[in-house]
Amino acid sequence: MAPGQGPATDVGGGVWPVVNPATEEIIDRVPMADLAAADAAIARSRAAFGPWRRVAPADRARLLRAFAAAVDADREHLARLEVANSGHTLGNARWEAANVRDVLEYYAAAPERQAGRQIPVAGGLDVTFHEPLGVVGVIVPWNFPLPIAGWALAPALAAGNTVVLKPAELTPLTALRLGELALAAGLPAGVLEVVPGRGDVVGRRFVTHPDVAKVVFTGSTRVGKEIMAGCAAQVKPVTLELGGKSANVVFADADLAKAAATAPSAVFDNAGQDCCARSRILVQREVFDDFMALLEPAVKAVRVGDPADPATEMGPLISARRRAAVAAYVPESAPVAFRGSAPDGPGFWFPPTVLSPVRPDDPAFTEEIFGPVVAVVPFTDEEDAVRIANDTAYGLSGSIWTRDVGRAIRVARAVEAGNLSVNSHASVRYATPFGGFKQSGLGRELGPDALHAFTETKNVFIATED
Ligand code: NAD
Repeated sequence: MAPGQGPATDVGGGVWPVVNPATEEIIDRVPMADLAAADAAIARSRAAFGPWRRVAPADRARLLRAFAAAVDADREHLARLEVANSGHTLGNARWEAANVRDVLEYYAAAPERQAGRQIPVAGGLDVTFHEPLGVVGVIVPWNFPLPIAGWALAPALAAGNTVVLKPAELTPLTALRLGELALAAGLPAGVLEVVPGRGDVVGRRFVTHPDVAKVVFTGSTRVGKEIMAGCAAQVKPVTLELGGKSANVVFADADLAKAAATAPSAVFDNAGQDCCARSRILVQREVFDDFMALLEPAVKAVRVGDPADPATEMGPLISARRRAAVAAYVPESAPVAFRGSAPDGPGFWFPPTVLSPVRPDDPAFTEEIFGPVVAVVPFTDEEDAVRIANDTAYGLSGSIWTRDVGRAIRVARAVEAGNLSVNSHASVRYATPFGGFKQSGLGRELGPDALHAFTETKNVFIATED
């Protein structure tokens, strides 16, 4: 049983004490749904589905725009809530709240543009429709509670589905607020049900309940595999956004100063609790020492501290448990090249940490750490860089630093990952697809095609011959 949870029963329930990870203070107590409450939420969502799919496209669009406007008006409140609940820096939390607004606005344009096709056939008229699936179950992790909720719920609702959304146990507050904002904006009751609860109770119920037509899961690869197996039993579609061990590949011809100046934020943003974290830096051997000399002051300059201070660049880890898990990758004997700072006192702090030289089989180099720890290794040439970058079960993101356009394209095509950036670390834009290769996931979110993940194509033939 997780600490602070209610009585240990198989059906969940109880009350979750929500902790501020920067102070370790309890800031709220959230009732956790038990199995019966999860079933009741799914039933309300199922009842709301018929009326919601029949809402005229322009009206559904209008309601989503109203939801976006409600999020926009509440942005600062949502951001402050995230700072307190998740320890995100204020700058990040403001971006995240605005991202939910942007994603809702982007997909508000979809209902009126979701055209099928008319396909030429003999003897009649053939048309396709993109039918909504029904109730979509969305399971969200604690590392980016707002954006990850928005990326699933906005296209799902736009396509005419209803949504039951389970936030992570540790971070329910902004999801609950989104549920309130949806209702205040005029979305009918039941269209978006936010159901805080345990993963192995409420999350698992989304998988097993026959009235949940699809599951969107973001979280660990371990739980993702279990969810995929559970969905297989019902041939239930599933989108998985899982872990990562992304490479930041720096070639000798790159703008080294810029590559070194930006490398810390590419891995230490959100205290490294980011599935896209570039937690392996691969540097061409002839510039390795120069790069390390530039990286050291950049890492030492990362401002770690009170996440509510607008100048802060890195906050705490989410929990004592996470901090212990991260610390296990940096034992006394670890090859620490240099580290940044972290406050003393309460809060789940861990300093930005750079490991080098690292053995290729060191768990810090092969496993997702999900904390502010990065390993830097040398490579010889383009082929060697691609080999090391791909030597992982994951394939989510990556960066390539070079001034050679041909090489940038060759390497981007050769790296087995869903989201690559050249001379940049930006992986996420709501207008472009996002998702992983290999064990980083299945399916894509965001971008112009996201509604396909929330619809079934129906083909209808109408005979025109007598
Ligand atoms: P987690 O897998 O433990 O939990 C994620 C969510 O799943 C939580 O809401 C949890 O309650 C729920 N859950 C747990 N067990 C479940 C079960 N048996 N059935 C159904 N639901 C269950 O992961 P976490 O520790 O919360 O998040 C960290 C992980 O998430 C990291 O590995 C990270 O890489 C990954 N992640 C990936 C992305 C992405 O987009 N690819 C984004 C964020 C996080």
